[in-house]
Amino acid sequence: MHLEENKPLAPFTTFGIGGPARWYLHATSEEEIVEAVEWAKQQSLPLFVLGGGSNLLVSDAGFPGLVLHIALRGVTAIDDGAYRVYQAAAGEAWDTFVQRAVDDNCAGIECLAGIPGTVGGTPVQNVGAYGQEVASSITRVRAFDLRSHDFVDLPAEDCNFNYRRSRFNSTDRGRFIVTRVDYRLTRAGAPTLRYADLQRTFSSGFSPTLAQVAAGVRRIRVSKGMLLVEGDPDSRSAGSFFKNPIVPADLLSSIAETAGKQPPHFPADLEISSAARVKIPAAWLIEQAGYARGYTLGAAAVSSRHTLALINRGGATAAEILALADRIASAVQDRFGIRLDREPVLVGFDAGPSRPR
Ligand SMILES: Cc1cc2nc3c(=O)[nH]c(=O)nc-3n(C[C@H](O)[C@H](O)[C@H](O)COP(=O)(O)OP(=O)(O)OC[C@H]3O[C@@H](n4cnc5c(N)ncnc54)[C@H](O)[C@@H]3O)c2cc1C
Repeated sequence: MHLEENKPLAPFTTFGIGGPARWYLHATSEEEIVEAVEWAKQQSLPLFVLGGGSNLLVSDAGFPGLVLHIALRGVTAIDDGAYRVYQAAAGEAWDTFVQRAVDDNCAGIECLAGIPGTVGGTPVQNVGAYGQEVASSITRVRAFDLRSHDFVDLPAEDCNFNYRRSRFNSTDRGRFIVTRVDYRLTRAGAPTLRYADLQRTFSSGFSPTLAQVAAGVRRIRVSKGMLLVEGDPDSRSAGSFFKNPIVPADLLSSIAETAGKQPPHFPADLEISSAARVKIPAAWLIEQAGYARGYTLGAAAVSSRHTLALINRGGATAAEILALADRIASAVQDRFGIRLDREPVLVGFDAGPSRPR
């Protein structure tokens, strides 16, 4: 186990922001993870599990404990009738794994192409985009349980997946270290083409292949600054900073009255009480509350291509990003009475002021 001290974390995040980790370990095996957990426990140090750093805002002070960087590698595939089950180690790059599945002509995650981060990060917030979520393909998550100090294999039903939510980022936040995720994909399956933006990239009547859909998703992502592209300041972000709020459908009329127009909305299809609840794009609410693309606050800004992404224009601090986020969330709350929940995870802010969730 090779522990490093005072390791800068900013280079490990897509925001490029954050102070150092007091201790850091690049963990390449389950044995190393167990050893590191024991060590942190003996030292009474807090532990943070780092994947690809694409959904994080690390504080300017850094993290005062051990950062365990999950770097386990390897993917195996087992055919099971019409399906192929991939067992992917948590440290595999997600987008590379998606491309492998697409190249193998296996359907189920093609719309999730271009999302940065690791395999291990995907069950945490039930990653989703363009009409797909990993909840639909994950069958099992292998993890180290910090409570029982043992490895567990959690079937998908036990992960409590919902919109940008699972037990890993809610009821059991910080309890599990994911080491492997199993995805069941459909061999030679048809691509998912539910999302209007994606449908529009193909001429009507055309039946795109999985590879064409994945490429189409990446093209849309580039146009929105939602694909990591070297030198593109709009992609120096954590993706969407706010979740799309799910609100009671009867709130729509009062929102329309305030805005002077009907809000776009979609059925909250993963919600239990879906009939009575709708999802409203947070981007629309933010724009109606007066924050346009390109709005800047110091070195922090709203992306010039996507209202939901807050970006580091170069040299931004975590404090600046949060100040901008707070300003936007307060404006939406004041105008519409809707609280915007943050999507990225805050790291090393425990002693700081309370934040909107
Ligand atoms: C340009 C851009 C576009 C994006 N687009 C999307 C999108 O379309 N849809 C979407 O859902 N997300 C999107 N994201 C957010 C992000 O990419 C995903 O949430 C991703 O799954 C995070 O994975 P990660 O490995 O980077 O996790 P990290 O950012 O490193 O960590 C995020 C959280 O997961 C935990 N975690 C990570 N790995 C493990 C593990 N092995 N075990 C236990 N906990 C772990 C961390 O402790 C932390 O709480 C985008 C981000 C960017 C920068």
